[in-house]
Amino acid sequence: MEDKKTTSERTAQGRSSGKFRCMNCMERIAPPAGAKQVKCEKCGFEWRISWLGPTFPRCRGPVWEVNRRLTEEALKERNK
Ligand SMILES: [Zn+2]
Repeated sequence: MEDKKTTSERTAQGRSSGKFRCMNCMERIAPPAGAKQVKCEKCGFEWRISWLGPTFPRCRGPVWEVNRRLTEEALKERNK
């Protein structure tokens, strides 16, 4: 059954190409093709990417080391 694809897969194919939403600030990110991770230009968080196809990036999850550091820096700023 070729048509039996999940809704998310169908949605991904309907999009123009190569973008996913930042899970932190919901900004749309367009990573370079084949990139293993990408940084959100808006909030600076970094995300690990897997590729469903040449133009179908999927966010696998946060790059914890970077995001934790950003969070700690934000907390430090607040405590100054
Ligand atoms: Zn973001």
